[in-house]
Amino acid sequence: MKRLKWNGWGYEGEEFPQDRTKKIIEVLRSFLGISEDDFSPSVNLEQINLPDPKIDYQLLQRKLKVSSVSVEKYDRVLNSSGKSYKNLVRLRKGIIKKFPDAVVYVKDKNDIFEILSFCENEKIACVPRGGGTSVVGGVDTEEISSPVLVCDLTYLNKVVDVDTKSLTSRVQAGVRGPNLEEQLRNYGLALRHYPQSFYFSTLGGWIAARSAGHFSSRYGKIEDMIQSIEVITPRGIVKNFDVPSTACGPDIPRAFAGSEGILGIITEAVVKCHKIPTKKFSTAFVFPDFETACEAARRIIHSEIFPPLLRILDEREHMISSLLSGRPYEGGSLLLLGFESDDETENIVRIEFEKTSQICIKSGGKDEGKMRFEDWKKEYFEQPYLRDVLMDFCIVVDTLETATSWSNLINLYRKVKEAMEQAIFSETLGGVTCRVTHVYTTGASLYYSFFAKAQKGKEEELWWKIKKSASDAISSYGGTISHHHGVGRDHKIWAQKELKDSLVFLKGLKLSLDPKNIMNPGAVFDI
Ligand SMILES: Cc1cc2nc3c(=O)[nH]c(=O)nc-3n(C[C@H](O)[C@H](O)[C@H](O)COP(=O)(O)OP(=O)(O)OC[C@H]3O[C@@H](n4cnc5c(N)ncnc54)[C@H](O)[C@@H]3O)c2cc1C
Repeated sequence: MKRLKWNGWGYEGEEFPQDRTKKIIEVLRSFLGISEDDFSPSVNLEQINLPDPKIDYQLLQRKLKVSSVSVEKYDRVLNSSGKSYKNLVRLRKGIIKKFPDAVVYVKDKNDIFEILSFCENEKIACVPRGGGTSVVGGVDTEEISSPVLVCDLTYLNKVVDVDTKSLTSRVQAGVRGPNLEEQLRNYGLALRHYPQSFYFSTLGGWIAARSAGHFSSRYGKIEDMIQSIEVITPRGIVKNFDVPSTACGPDIPRAFAGSEGILGIITEAVVKCHKIPTKKFSTAFVFPDFETACEAARRIIHSEIFPPLLRILDEREHMISSLLSGRPYEGGSLLLLGFESDDETENIVRIEFEKTSQICIKSGGKDEGKMRFEDWKKEYFEQPYLRDVLMDFCIVVDTLETATSWSNLINLYRKVKEAMEQAIFSETLGGVTCRVTHVYTTGASLYYSFFAKAQKGKEEELWWKIKKSASDAISSYGGTISHHHGVGRDHKIWAQKELKDSLVFLKGLKLSLDPKNIMNPGAVFDI
């Protein structure tokens, strides 16, 4: 069976393509001044020392009907962290001192009742975990002071039933993207939710972190894709009536979207499906600058056309993306568009596609044709593997994201970029790029990537300086601290400020469902 890397992206043995790695390192060697001295590979698993587990895992195992408990070193190390830059830099250096005491692989949802009551009785923290791809410290166990049990849900991975007439499907929460897609395909259906972490993240994790996929401009974020939800909390099961819409009280599925494991364990959801598209139309336009491209995007959306994919790469991101894939860069910002249809909707979508192209041309865009989009899509899923390569050379590399109104978009874009560049260039070489990843009638999200050469041993310090500068600027200039990564532990300082008046509601919910605070304590907010 393939094992996930405990200190990087993907499965063991998977890597960023070697030939391209060499080229990238050569470019960075001259640009960032990297030398042999900077080489800092990861420690081996054998070099990490683990304290003995502090929970009676054998007692727990006896209480469970089907699920299994592990205290193996690999399981405890893998499950100590998510996949943020901070997580990986700490794992690779072997400096994490506290690990989960045990990991339970849940194979039957009824076992969850036993697990939660065991945790309550023994004063053990329970961290629900899907794919473990959180980039905000959502599954980090290091800071939890009590003993910790991680609850891995990836064996709960079945499509339970499908209603092909209503286009809905009841799905277990631990299913990963490709497996879900494969099971729904048997019924001619698809969810069309494609986050960059698609291959490894799970339905439950998407809901718990309010994930957005690259087709969100048409299909919405994950919270728009669920019709009902089932959650097991320390105080029992919460399940809403499964109908397309209701006015029977507050919206229960939405109350759990973004709950990041602090209220209970999401075990199932009924998702809204689509017929598998049979036709795809894609194109790309180059604009003189980012602002003009954003204005074109706003006009498209305000014409009531919602292309499934609409992304804008700013000038710097467009340049780097061209360099990485060996295409010439002739300046400007790149707007990517993707439409899809089934046979019945083809004519409508074709009209939308043509209208969108006309808007782009009228707004100053130059048609670059289909190829650009296809290139970009391949790179999209490869990019996370590149981070591991760069980390070998003391390069800090990370992404962060926000959203705001159309009126404030360019102002926020500039302020955050300036703050990040100031943090980087005051001490080293590096760069900041940005793209618009999701668009709405009222605004859009901004997704920044940054890289910077760190002094050996000072990687985390530099990362935090840049991350903090960006987050302070986001918070000061009208952006949300997260559009789709969540709060976790890393965004808590800024979330506190943003959530201020709603904290009374959230804390009330938390205390009523989890009065002993065993569920992922310390994530989202402190109580
Ligand atoms: C390279 C990379 C690319 C990414 N790209 C995207 C992207 O394009 N779009 C996007 O939205 N995000 C992206 N992310 C972030 C991450 O993949 C998402 O937050 C995703 O939703 C997490 O899903 P997961 O199954 O891995 O959850 P985990 O990381 O396991 O958990 C995330 C949070 O949800 C909780 N949780 C997980 N499962 C459950 C459950 N069943 N019940 C209750 N709580 C639960 C956990 O306790 C934790 O707080 C990316 C991350 C990486 C590393």
